[in-house]
Amino acid sequence: MTENVTDQDICFSSVVELTTAFAKGQLTAEQIVCAFADRAVQHAELNSYLTLDRQGALAAAARLDCARAANEPLGPLAGVVIGLKDALCTQGVATTAGSKILDGWIPPYDATVVARLRAAGAIILGKLNMDEFAMGSSTETSAYGVCRNPWDLDRVPGGSSGGSAAAVAAGLCTVALGSDTGGSIRQPAGFCGVVGVKPTYGRVSRYGLIAYASSLDCVGPLARRVDDAARVLEVISGHDRRDATSMVEPPLSLTDTHLNHGVSGLTIGVLHEFFPDDLDREVAASIRVAIAKLESAGATIREISLPHSRYALACYYLVATAEASSNLARYDGVRYGQRVDASPLEEMYGITRARFLGTEVKRRILLGTFALRAGYVDAYYTKAQKVRRLVKSDFDNVWASGVDVIATPTSPTTAFAIGEKSTPFEMYLADLFTLSCNLAGLP
Ligand code: GLN
Repeated sequence: MTENVTDQDICFSSVVELTTAFAKGQLTAEQIVCAFADRAVQHAELNSYLTLDRQGALAAAARLDCARAANEPLGPLAGVVIGLKDALCTQGVATTAGSKILDGWIPPYDATVVARLRAAGAIILGKLNMDEFAMGSSTETSAYGVCRNPWDLDRVPGGSSGGSAAAVAAGLCTVALGSDTGGSIRQPAGFCGVVGVKPTYGRVSRYGLIAYASSLDCVGPLARRVDDAARVLEVISGHDRRDATSMVEPPLSLTDTHLNHGVSGLTIGVLHEFFPDDLDREVAASIRVAIAKLESAGATIREISLPHSRYALACYYLVATAEASSNLARYDGVRYGQRVDASPLEEMYGITRARFLGTEVKRRILLGTFALRAGYVDAYYTKAQKVRRLVKSDFDNVWASGVDVIATPTSPTTAFAIGEKSTPFEMYLADLFTLSCNLAGLP
């Protein structure tokens, strides 16, 4: 980085540029934090940050600047500014999951991914807006106001990690973390024109991620560049004994290996089912252009089929809501966040939940509780698990046939207008193409 770096340069730098400039002493961590924090304030209209922790970030920066001055070893993300979806617990910093029921709750511990980022020298600037408990595709269900798409303020940034995508696109952090249960990293990344990676289930620890649907939830990065996302994924991946579903595997190693290999020799599957007749024309056209580019870069394109993917949406909304109804039972006014005082106890539970949970969250809890009811569990939840198995075996067959990766649109449309989707079902369709991967545990 040259002498006259502007704040704008800092805010749109890559991970490598920032860590190099910091290590060489061309930029102090304090300078970096101030550039991002000022820019975040200037772009408050996006409503991407729910909590801007300038003080905490400056304290981390001061430690880093001292470490550098003392020639101590610097971590791989030293000087990189990160924003976190507000579903990730941060010790001493408010964490709401976009819900009023967690208003005022301060976690006593860091999520594993947060601890790993800090240990790698990353600076956490704050907590990012999201759909309430990650239930949504537009960030409109946030109890703290809708987040806006930086490319067009009348449009949604996608969801549920909409704050993460908007902040990255607008240069309010270098990389953000989001979570993806049915598309919540990929879809907002697509809507805001950034990179979003949903890792393999179990690859990144869920410890300290506020749970939505535990068998589907994954934490992953959103970034402006593929290599930025890869560098953060390397840091946050790897086994964690605090998450029972964590894979017993070492952290990913991507930047020295796969990242520069190109696509030559890969077989890329293109799905017939993911190009329905009513797919937005422009989306279909640009996906076809991208596929043609992959082909001219040396990949072999093969048409494939995932016949059970047509059941993915129904299957997902049974599994996810059932797990959510169980996970969200803990917000009862006793242990976390808000409470309405009332007696007897059942009354207190009911009034607290009625007052502080939003409409979409209540809808999901009701659906999930219905699906898990005694006598109906086999007809709904267990059956959905069987369909899930079929969705997964479709993918297994595709891999067995020699396909390496699958190319699909991320979502059926580009970013829609705020308020445009009038029914829950219309909103659920936004995840039509992303859900199957979560059901199958795939990246
Ligand atoms: N939009 C989907 C839902 O509302 C997916 C959300 C997510 O991945 N967290 O369930």
